[in-house]
Parts: sequence; C-alpha cells; structure tokens
Amino acid sequence: TTGLYIVPTPIGNLEDMTYRAVRILQESDLVAAEDTRQTMKLFNHFKIETKLVSYHEHNKQVSGARLLADLHAGKQIALVSDAGMPGISDPGSDLIREAIAEDIPVIVLPGANAALTALVASGLATERFLYYGFLPRKKKERREALETVRYEKGSLIFYEAPHRLKEMLGALRDVLGDRQLTLARELTKRYEEYIRGSVTEALEWAEEEVRGEFVVIVEGSTEERPAEEEQKADPLQQIERYIEQGE
Ligand code: SAM
Repeated sequence: TTGLYIVPTPIGNLEDMTYRAVRILQESDLVAAEDTRQTMKLFNHFKIETKLVSYHEHNKQVSGARLLADLHAGKQIALVSDAGMPGISDPGSDLIREAIAEDIPVIVLPGANAALTALVASGLATERFLYYGFLPRKKKERREALETVRYEKGSLIFYEAPHRLKEMLGALRDVLGDRQLTLARELTKRYEEYIRGSVTEALEWAEEEVRGEFVVIVEGSTEERPAEEEQKADPLQQIERYIEQGE
C-alpha cells in the first residue's frame, strides 16, 4: 500500500530500530522529519538515502498541506519524529487526522516508545493507565491539570524535562499525595536506571543534580472521588446548574 507511514525510531538504543522501519524509510519517496539533522544521523547509521523534508510544530500547516498533495499524487511518505512514536507528545497527529479525513491510507509501524516501556518496567498496575505526557509548565496550570487526574484509578504516565523534575515531583506530592512512583531514566541507554519508591523518596533523590530523560509513572488513586466532586463533573448536572443560573 502506498500512503502515509508512521515510523517509530529508537529512544536511545539504535538496535531498537525494526527491520521493517528501515525498509519503509528506504522505500518511501519522501521522509518527513521533526528535525532533519537529527534524522540524518539515523539515516547515516542505517544507510538510508531517502529525501528528507521537515515537518514540525511550527511549519505543520504549510508542510502538512504539501505532504497531503504529494500523498494524493500517489507518493509514499514516511513520518518520523526525533525519537519514539510520532504523534505521542510529538508532531504527527494533525497530519494523521487530515490524511484519514482525505481517505489516504495511514499505516502505523509499532516500535519504541518511552511511556509504555517505563510503565511495564515500573511494576505498577498496567491493566489500566492514563497517559498524560508533559504537564503544563506554569505552576497554577500544572496543579489544575493534576486535579483533573487526582481520582484516576489507573497508573499515570508523565514525561518531564530533567530541569523541571524536582518542581514537578513537588506538585505531584501536593496534589496527588505521597503515592508510590517510578522514575524511569535514560531508557535503553547506557545509564538506564529506575528509581522506585514514594514521591517523597523521589524528591530526596532529585535533590542532587538531575540529568537525562525521564518518564514518571505514578500509582493510580486508591480514593474514590467525593460525591460533591462527582456531581460537579457530571455533565447532566452541569447542564442543570447552567439552566438554573440562567446564564
Ligand atoms: N514520541 C516519544 C515517545 O514515543 O516516547 C516521546 C517524545 S517527547 C518529545 C520526549 C520525552 O519522552 C522526554 O522528555 C522524556 O520524558 C521521554 N523520553 C524519551 N526518550 C526517553 C528515554 N530514553 N528515557 C526516558 N524518557 C524518555
């Protein structure tokens, strides 16, 4: 099938590239990449010579329109991000949505992803989980975001930059309480490491300089949502209140 191929790339260890991913990148007419210089390193390693174009957050409208035109013209296009699965806290979902809307086949290859790797390694519940990605950077917005997942029973998955980790762990403790968590650091790389314990213990660990890439997996809520909160969150009741207030 020709169409739009979504191709995951390694999150550290180049051996995690799949045979199929290499072949699809080689065979495609064009590869759209989040950062062409980054992808060039991967191409050099796997001897891929396909033409690269950039597709990122800041050019996605113009670049996306061009890619869609090429897809309509029958070209095979592959999309990669800097690391892991495109579309997961990475560019890609807009293009995928547009391709689907325009009846262009979208073929996703399975592959490396930091969130799922960390979740499985965490030892926390995997039956049910909520992927959050990056929390907002601003304090107030971060707290509000955490409030929305406070009663989630499944494990919570967050991405965080090393220089914000300590602040983020503080917010976790304030809003979610001192739950169990796992910090998954530098997955698949030389200094891969798991820090398992309570949020407080993780905060103590983060006292020293924090480096590397992190996924934070937090135990789900063991508390039930209080009845009053339940009502506030109920859309029917929200509509009723809205009508009562005559707003
Ligand atoms: N699309 C990627 C994926 O599928 O995992 C995620 C891209 S997102 C922009 C980058 C974030 O993913 C990092 O800030 C970090 O939280 C997490 N991450 C990526 N690679 C990682 C690794 N090797 N170890 C730990 N976390 C990683």
